[in-house]
Amino acid sequence: MGKALIIGAGGVASVCVHKCCQNSDVFEEICIASRTKSKCDALKEKLDGGKTKISTAQVNADNVDELIVLINQFKPDVVINLALPYQDLTIMDACLATKVNYVDTANYEPLDTAKFEYKWQWAYRERFEKAGITALLGSGFDPGVTGVFSAYALKHEFDEINYIDILDCNAGDHGYPFATNFNPEINIREVSAKGSYIENGQWVETEPMEIKRVYHFPEIGEKDMYLLHHEELESLALNIKGIKRIRFFMTFGQSYLTHLKCLENVGMTSIEPIEFEGKQIVPLQFLKAVLPDPASLGPRTKGKTNIGCIFIGKKDGKDKTYYLYNVCDHQECYKEVGSQAVSYTTGVPAMIGAAMLLTGKWNKPGVHNIEEFDPDPFMDALNQFGLPWKESFNPDLVE
Ligand code: NDP
Repeated sequence: MGKALIIGAGGVASVCVHKCCQNSDVFEEICIASRTKSKCDALKEKLDGGKTKISTAQVNADNVDELIVLINQFKPDVVINLALPYQDLTIMDACLATKVNYVDTANYEPLDTAKFEYKWQWAYRERFEKAGITALLGSGFDPGVTGVFSAYALKHEFDEINYIDILDCNAGDHGYPFATNFNPEINIREVSAKGSYIENGQWVETEPMEIKRVYHFPEIGEKDMYLLHHEELESLALNIKGIKRIRFFMTFGQSYLTHLKCLENVGMTSIEPIEFEGKQIVPLQFLKAVLPDPASLGPRTKGKTNIGCIFIGKKDGKDKTYYLYNVCDHQECYKEVGSQAVSYTTGVPAMIGAAMLLTGKWNKPGVHNIEEFDPDPFMDALNQFGLPWKESFNPDLVE
């Protein structure tokens, strides 16, 4: 049916490539392009021989001209950006110049400030609309499936949703005292930032990890979770009718938090460049270099993830609560595609988002967050491609 250019060859891209090959009727041809071409070639080698035709390329996605040359050569119908959030705008610029649809899983963040928000990407709305192309923002799990869950809950279960709590639990154990499950730089920037949530249309800011709750997760058990700032809060508060409060919680074990505090206290998580042996280095980037590569955690990680949303609102004039979630098993993911569940739960929705555009099931020129589209075909595809969802009409609530 179409051609996808996948940019990036890390943990998430690897899963996405596997899933495109499982969906070869839609993804007839893919090109995997990244900064380090050998990683693209290694991925291709693993998957060659199926129905999807795979090619690889080297590209620096910080460079719009290089991207334009590659897009003009390969002529994709959609570009799936699975590099880092710093590349979002250059890739969007290249898509605009070549009139190709765009999908990503994380919103733009400038390299020198750990602050992610949608304003930079939303500023492209009119230009994408005029060019007749679609940018689908945030097609991972969170953001991504959490937005699809919210649109589905509003469409089928509620007249209005007043409260959403997004709960992200990773109960996987990789056996290292400290490692991150996806890109360490992005992960540590996210968790060491101040927390925030939206109440009555206003952002409320908290100190990092200030708000802690204990929650009993289905199929996992009791875990400590902490309120974080997270990008989908911004778009869901705008797009879901009736929202009074929306919060995001993520689980962390004590060992992770103790190590993080120590690294923070000694300055290793800083993004301010320092002079070292006559060279400028960023402490957090150096830390990334000494930590285990998230891609290497796959074979070691045991346990499950549970990510979902608890909704509180009204249906037919009555109060209603509803919980939609997915449980994913690290070892099962590894058996299927050679990656742990954090990459899996992001790479599958990235493929599905691109498939929605390629098949024309979603077609709305402009720049859109995922909850702005009809959730039904995406929800079906989650069941089909390895992330089945479950629902509860009587969930435990978060205080
Ligand atoms: P990795 O670090 O494993 O992979 C990133 C890839 O991007 C690497 O192959 C890297 O190349 C490549 N890359 C980086 N910079 C450039 C550049 N300038 N030009 C070309 N390629 C580049 O990250 P992950 O796979 O873990 O994460 C990918 C994305 O997914 C991130 O944006 C992350 O924020 C997002 N994410 C979203 C989630 C969600 O639920 N929405 C959850 C988890 C992640 P090289 O190998 O040379 O370094």
